[in-house]
Amino acid sequence: MALIRTKGLVIRETYVGEADKILTLLTEDIGKVSVSARGARKNSRNSYGTQILTYGQYILFKGRNSLILDGCDILASFYDLANDLERFTYAAHMIEMASDAASDDQTSARVLNLLLHGLNALNKGREPLLVSSSFTMKLMQICGYPPHVTSCVSCHEKELDRIYFSFSKCGFACENCAKTLNDVVPITTGTAKAILHVLCSDNPGVFGFNLSPENLKSFSDISNRYIADRFDKKYGKLDYLKEISQAAYHMGENL
Ligand SMILES: [Zn+2]
Repeated sequence: MALIRTKGLVIRETYVGEADKILTLLTEDIGKVSVSARGARKNSRNSYGTQILTYGQYILFKGRNSLILDGCDILASFYDLANDLERFTYAAHMIEMASDAASDDQTSARVLNLLLHGLNALNKGREPLLVSSSFTMKLMQICGYPPHVTSCVSCHEKELDRIYFSFSKCGFACENCAKTLNDVVPITTGTAKAILHVLCSDNPGVFGFNLSPENLKSFSDISNRYIADRFDKKYGKLDYLKEISQAAYHMGENL
């Protein structure tokens, strides 16, 4: 029986029957895989390493229909994030994007590395919106969709007095070209620098900068729309946080 050893992060756990789980592992070597964890809901030995947000060295073997978990050494757990609804929701949002981006083994390894650094930044108390927005922009670069940021994406002018971001052209645009494009937003120098920083940095530096609240909002809006356009998908997990904060605000009004 050939064993497969791979480092991976549990990005989903699904209960099956009364005793088993199916894990989705994002791995360093074999991409994103489903793994059957037999007895993981009953036996504490079998449940070891099967919790979502666990990073470990997993030992698997090939069953008739699926990979089967044989053992695990836990290397890190980010499950403490579950104690904080806001951070856990951001983690779930990043995991959803990472899962969509993990298209092949090589991309998956880079996505996993970015995700581990992002979760670590969340764990260390970094601003969650900055972490998830930076994660999103870097993820787009890893997937082969880096926005064009070294000149105007349309006329290639390098000196940009005012900077716009074009979603259809995928990059910065000058003021003249912005007038001819109908999907541009003006951005500040601070927001442009944030995008440049993320694209030019390696982990963990991707998450190592600060932004004013206005620039962070703009950076976040651009990152979210950029991935939604590229993946043709609306990511809704963060909307839940907005609904909660609005509900709390209205409850406060009625006190
Ligand atoms: Zn231009």
